[in-house]
Amino acid sequence: MDLSGRDSNRAALAELKGSLGNSRVETSEENLFFESIDHSRYFFRPEAAVIIGDPSDVGTVLKLANKYGVCVSVRGRGTGCSGGALPQKGGWVLDLSGLGEIKINASTWVAEVGAGVITADIDKAAGEYGLFYPPDPSSHLYCSIGGNIACNAGGLRAAKYGVTRDYVLALEGYLPSGEFVRFGRPLRKFSVGLNLRDLWIGSEGLLGVITKAFLKLARRPEKTRTYLFFPPNSKAAFRCVSAILRARVMPSILEFMDSQSCACAKKYCPEASFADGSTVLLAELDGSEAQIDSAEAEMLSAAANYAPPPEIAKTSADAQKLWAIRRKCSQSMYEIADSKLNQDIVLPSDRAEEFFDYFNSIGRDNNVATPTFGHAADGNYHIHAMYFGSNPKSAAAARFVMDKAVAKCVSLGGAVSGEHGIGILKSRYMSLQHSPAEIEAMRAVKRALDPNNILNSGKVLEPFNLDGIYPLKGVRLPWDK
Ligand SMILES: Cc1cc2nc3c(=O)[nH]c(=O)nc-3n(C[C@H](O)[C@H](O)[C@H](O)COP(=O)(O)OP(=O)(O)OC[C@H]3O[C@@H](n4cnc5c(N)ncnc54)[C@H](O)[C@@H]3O)c2cc1C
Repeated sequence: MDLSGRDSNRAALAELKGSLGNSRVETSEENLFFESIDHSRYFFRPEAAVIIGDPSDVGTVLKLANKYGVCVSVRGRGTGCSGGALPQKGGWVLDLSGLGEIKINASTWVAEVGAGVITADIDKAAGEYGLFYPPDPSSHLYCSIGGNIACNAGGLRAAKYGVTRDYVLALEGYLPSGEFVRFGRPLRKFSVGLNLRDLWIGSEGLLGVITKAFLKLARRPEKTRTYLFFPPNSKAAFRCVSAILRARVMPSILEFMDSQSCACAKKYCPEASFADGSTVLLAELDGSEAQIDSAEAEMLSAAANYAPPPEIAKTSADAQKLWAIRRKCSQSMYEIADSKLNQDIVLPSDRAEEFFDYFNSIGRDNNVATPTFGHAADGNYHIHAMYFGSNPKSAAAARFVMDKAVAKCVSLGGAVSGEHGIGILKSRYMSLQHSPAEIEAMRAVKRALDPNNILNSGKVLEPFNLDGIYPLKGVRLPWDK
């Protein structure tokens, strides 16, 4: 079907505009800009953006896209780091951020949420019933639950409480053909046929569009207590983490910031009063007062060989200040260079020292700053290679360092991505992680569900050539506060 000519585009757009219910089509340059950029800051202009106000319009859009051969890029709230929502082939952006309904069922401990709901709002709504939605990506004030499910987002509490997948009971949405489907049901158990719900989770919008999710809630922990450890260096921090886990203490959060990240945070956040050269482990214990006291004793004894006694946040306001610094780590990197490459690799915990010796040394050898922070208890580290966008040599050096780092991670038994997904920016690493047979099996699933290859086409499973394409500089997005 070759309908890519100007006339068919115009006809497609006209039919689109005339077919929607409570949704609208945007074509103005200004609105298209913010519909077409994500946290990666790469920009590709689509022909139109459809802001969905009624889930059934998703089916209409997809049916028209198949009819006219238009590529559709699915978008939640654009906080993605891998370019998964970008319209790199043009076509239409399908914006789900307007699907914002939340219902909490306090009897079944289930949240029924529209795909566009902001993640933090689910936990807030659950909290009114003493319930808890544990997955909390650092972007939780800005990202959507649909994006979280599509990327199988993790977060700060993942080591103890698990990732998004562990909380999804059922999904509603549309196949690439535009047919409505429900995968799973809002029940604690469901064993009827193939589990396509789990196939959708983490599929980065390649296999369908999620419009609604039913999420499992947990009982809200009574209390939390926050600790700030200052190990002398990264090696001591990794050993401290291993010692805490060996002592069978599982903090609800255990976050790592290396000395380069602490220096960035110190420049960016006035409230970060770290001494120069600090490395930080930020931990949180949760439970009843007695449970926290007992875990604290075990944690402090395990950590004592690797770090001085921690600072303990005295009030919840103090703790929030510490978490705010950690949550701003990503943005603070721009204090040292205007552009960055970043990956969210996962390392087997006993290989972290070896990896970071390698990563920091190739960074130094190539004059590339390599700040790292991340979720230490589950080995998921956000590594960065900083560069200056106007300097092609600096950009090439950063790319060299990052390619070497990702290859090293995989050779140590690690993963290219733990939570951000592949999108377009990491698709060139797929063959490091997966054999040709594995990739072909994934492509076969994609072909079966999306024979016209209209949905998030050219992402994840097809290599994307980044040569000569760079992120925009100086763009401020809502989470860059
Ligand atoms: C400061 C910052 C901190 C972050 N910290 C974390 C973290 O701790 N943990 C973590 O996991 N991530 C983190 N991220 C990354 C990002 O927030 C997550 O990947 C998030 O899940 C993306 O949600 P979104 O709504 O912004 O999705 P988008 O960026 O809009 O889209 C992401 C992907 O999901 C697909 N998609 C979106 N909505 C749907 C839908 N309804 N149906 C089908 N496919 C869909 C898109 O096509 C795309 O492939 C962070 C990002 C930032 C900017």
